[in-house]
Amino acid sequence: MQEAIRALIRHFGEDLSREGLIKTPERVEKVWAHLMSGYTMKLDDIINGAIFDAPGDDMVIVKDIEIYSMCEHHLLPFFGKCHIGYIPQGKIVGVSKLARIADMYARRLQVQERLAHEIARAVMKVLEPQGVAVIIEARHLCMMMRGVEKQNSEMRTSAMLGAFRKRPETRAEFMALISK
Ligand SMILES: [Zn+2]
Repeated sequence: MQEAIRALIRHFGEDLSREGLIKTPERVEKVWAHLMSGYTMKLDDIINGAIFDAPGDDMVIVKDIEIYSMCEHHLLPFFGKCHIGYIPQGKIVGVSKLARIADMYARRLQVQERLAHEIARAVMKVLEPQGVAVIIEARHLCMMMRGVEKQNSEMRTSAMLGAFRKRPETRAEFMALISK
């Protein structure tokens, strides 16, 4: 990877032996290893048994989970907030695990639409709840850095599974709760 980074820097006519750049390929490699670490994570390892029996079927919501991901079209970050809701069917999961599931899929090359769906499907698989809802609101540097007129635009994507897809009132309740 360091050779690829050197080629990129060289491409713009920069001097790789310059003080500020000399260690850049090494640093970039480390950063990317972190940004792409989702590829080597496994759902089972993340959950690590933190699933609990719970009575009731009231909606569980975790809102404002920070996400940082990389747009696969431009290799630039997109970042924002992820809201996850589910209706249990006898099982719940530790709140921090939902954030870690979001990280696992965010730390890959992504498009925002797929990210929401992958998170939703993972929660579905782990908990087998009545339904899962995921909404992501994010800003994309590939849009923000290229045109002044797009600097404040935020993209919102959602994935609704099970009860959230089937029942408009369930979806509406989720939307109301996350906008508080
Ligand atoms: Zn992009």
